[in-house]
Amino acid sequence: MGTREPTKFCLGCFYVLDNLPGERCPECGRQFNALDSSTFGSTSKRADWLRWRRRVAILAAILVPLDIFFALLAYETVGEVNMVLLLFLAVVGNFVACFLLLIRLPKVSLIALVIVAVLIIPHQFVLGIKYCMITHEAKRIVNHLDQCLIRDGNAPPDLSGYTFCFSSIQEHFKYGPNKQHGGFFVSWYVGTRGTSHRYSPREGWRYYPD
Ligand SMILES: [Zn+2]
Repeated sequence: MGTREPTKFCLGCFYVLDNLPGERCPECGRQFNALDSSTFGSTSKRADWLRWRRRVAILAAILVPLDIFFALLAYETVGEVNMVLLLFLAVVGNFVACFLLLIRLPKVSLIALVIVAVLIIPHQFVLGIKYCMITHEAKRIVNHLDQCLIRDGNAPPDLSGYTFCFSSIQEHFKYGPNKQHGGFFVSWYVGTRGTSHRYSPREGWRYYPD
């Protein structure tokens, strides 16, 4: 003897409307007519809504943290101003997606989530890989130059004595012997030339993010 499946749901809040004395939703106050099926929702509609809501929630749980992570990574790759812009996009875009879900437009909400993610994640992912390669290269270069200073007493005139791990990123580096900076000065950028990661024996590791 199971309980009968509900057949009528409020269009406003999906409250079960079966076997009610009046024709008004006790949860949100919306009126319905038990004889007019266009004034209440069927079981499948509710199931559909719940399924889409779950999809949006799962996707948001994956994408929103990634949006934030890659927007913050932009500080190192394309500088402070661009990081702020990407964070703004992540917050506002995902807020809009949340709003769309609240007004029961789960498919549009899902599209909004994907658009925000596509605008932020792929580009910063590529730059993140580049950042790792360039940072690795920078440490090797500095190590090489330190060895030269110890061995010869001064830094070499250029980087011709150094073999790059990744020759494709060679152009990201600038180098010069520099007595004022303690022997040499090397700088590099990741995503935009407007930013500058630097090292010199006198100043150590520095970063100017715009
Ligand atoms: Zn209701």
